[in-house]
Amino acid sequence: MAPPLPTSLPLEFLERHDLAAPGCPMSSLRSPGDTPFSQMQYLDVLDTLRQAPDGNLAVYIHVPFCHVRCLYCACDTTVTHSLEKVDQYLDALEREMDMVTERIGRRRPIQQLHIGGGTPNHLNEPQLARLMEIVENHFTLTPESCASIECNPRRASVGQLELIHGLGFERVSFGVQDLNTDVQRAIGRVQSLNMVRDVFLTSRQTGFESINLDLVYGLPFQTPRGFQATLDQVLDLGPDRVACFSYAHDPARRPHQHAINTAHLPTPAEKLALFHRAVRTFTEAGYRWVGLDLFVLEDDELYEAQTAGRLYRNSLGYTTSADRQVLAFGPSGTAEVADALIRNESDLRVWQMRLNNGQFPVAWGRRLDEADRRRRQAMLHLMCNLQLPASSAADLDHEYEQLCRKAEQGLVEISDEGIRVTPQGRYILHGLCSEQDDLIDSSSQWRFRMSS
Ligand code: SF4
Repeated sequence: MAPPLPTSLPLEFLERHDLAAPGCPMSSLRSPGDTPFSQMQYLDVLDTLRQAPDGNLAVYIHVPFCHVRCLYCACDTTVTHSLEKVDQYLDALEREMDMVTERIGRRRPIQQLHIGGGTPNHLNEPQLARLMEIVENHFTLTPESCASIECNPRRASVGQLELIHGLGFERVSFGVQDLNTDVQRAIGRVQSLNMVRDVFLTSRQTGFESINLDLVYGLPFQTPRGFQATLDQVLDLGPDRVACFSYAHDPARRPHQHAINTAHLPTPAEKLALFHRAVRTFTEAGYRWVGLDLFVLEDDELYEAQTAGRLYRNSLGYTTSADRQVLAFGPSGTAEVADALIRNESDLRVWQMRLNNGQFPVAWGRRLDEADRRRRQAMLHLMCNLQLPASSAADLDHEYEQLCRKAEQGLVEISDEGIRVTPQGRYILHGLCSEQDDLIDSSSQWRFRMSS
């Protein structure tokens, strides 16, 4: 049985550890050495996939559009109000799927479909229907397939949610971030509790099997009291899962964040205390803390997998399947197939241009050799399951030295049986991850899958 979580974190611990970390998976990706990936290399990967048996394929689609830009945003997205621009994106997406499925075989069954962004529900209803038609013309969704989508509650309507559910989506995630008005004004995203509640209840009535809400901590004007109110209001709604992401202020890479006044941001220690508050609130309410920053109900398959030591993370997020192959479409989509990590061009125009020229729009990639693959598996196992048997710890390289230093700080325990993350160490899993960038950040759509 896992040791209990600390009821409070010592001030010295709060001051020593900073949770500063990238806020969004897609744009926080650091390429593995920025290694360009050639058309031939990609064809090679697809050929490997063609020969792989059906049964464990997932598809991610990145929709790179939003109605307005939130000031804290770190996602690859473009503000547009042009229907034509979205239609052209759908044309290019269709072309990308044509090219990939010509190589791996058309209408292969997929176990998982995830639509992220940007704001997927920025598309109007005919465009959403067309998006799904494109998927179904190229892949087969079986009764066992799970389809999920990220939605912005400010763009959702009853008709749209009914359409999305009718298109086969069972899981929906909404970005809540924070319900305090001062915080919302400071991040350029005002959405009332009433509106969020309406959208949530409508989704329940519509029949979605799972409704996830996303929060962000470390935002301007967040205080213990204000954030606690948000946590309580979110709990009252009864979401199936809650993700609590760390805001990373990085205006050099995301210039719109200059509009956020750093004087209003919590200090690193205050930020860590906010996260601790979220952990305490959700776990005391019966949710289980999974991986870095996800809270799920006790009967959730992800918690069961973590308890059994078989939780895994791929470029879509947490999964119970360690060998799922993820194909990605759309600008900045990151695929994880045939032991390769491959990222598409993130610029919408470049992505489109490459496709118009008949080229795969891949920007960089890396095919892992056996040693790297085992190291990566071992680190991911530790991050997800909070322990690593000694037999797998032997696969680690320089990471082992880093973990020994963490052991001196009481963040992990190393014994003959293997490595175990301590209750306090759970709070700095972000840090453990970011020190393994060459292996893990490359697939870190998984780090912060922030909803629209
Ligand atoms: S809705 Fe999401 S993706 Fe769009 S700007 Fe806001 S945070 Fe970024």
